[in-house]
Amino acid sequence: MRIPDITIAIDGYSSTGKSTLAKLIATHFDFLYLDSGAMYRGVTLFAQEQGLISPDNVIDPALEAALEGLDLHFAPGTVLYMGDRSIEKEIRTMEVSSQVSPIAAVPYVRSWVDARLHAFSEAGRVVMDGRDIGTTVFPDAEIKIFMTARPEVRAQRRFDELVSKGENPVFEEVMKNLQERDYIDSHRETSPLRRAEDAFELNNSEMGLTEEIAWAEGLIRGKFGLLNAPEEL
Ligand code: C5P
Repeated sequence: MRIPDITIAIDGYSSTGKSTLAKLIATHFDFLYLDSGAMYRGVTLFAQEQGLISPDNVIDPALEAALEGLDLHFAPGTVLYMGDRSIEKEIRTMEVSSQVSPIAAVPYVRSWVDARLHAFSEAGRVVMDGRDIGTTVFPDAEIKIFMTARPEVRAQRRFDELVSKGENPVFEEVMKNLQERDYIDSHRETSPLRRAEDAFELNNSEMGLTEEIAWAEGLIRGKFGLLNAPEEL
């Protein structure tokens, strides 16, 4: 099925499988996939390495000026680079996860990331996942999906992912981190996590990947069927 050059926004709570679904959509429909959370994780790693965030999450205001010299980009495809160094592995650790939400709550960090997300998406035909894509980054996205899943299912997924990457996580800590991030992400003043009014909700607690992609395909077909352009699909 060939679909038009649109933007697809996928938002939702931590570890609901947003990036898995986004990557499936990208491969299945030939879209560019952009992981906005990776950018916030990259800024967090940068702040940690520069000593601009304390262990109890006090952020040095010097971070704002320091961001001017920061180069974060995806190359090739979905791997995040800081300058010429791949930071894909470092940004997925619990150390970064534990400080990313306070960093992502800072308005100048959000503007810095948003500007880059818009630049990366210039060519269109993008599927992007995050917390505020359908509400703030791309409020006009043609398709918006909001993902949820039961907390135990989400914590188990994140736990398994960390184990598969060679970390040695403690389940309760993973669960606590998810809950803390969800709380901070949904209660911050700037672009809090919430479902856009026109987003379709997907609870995938009991779903497999084949079902998810079938659900997404149904959504996309329905959307363009309603626009009376099925011959272009
Ligand atoms: O998607 P991921 O879990 O990797 O995102 C890490 C963190 O980045 C989130 O917990 C949230 O604090 C922040 N984030 C955000 N807005 C986005 C994407 C991620 O605030 N659009």
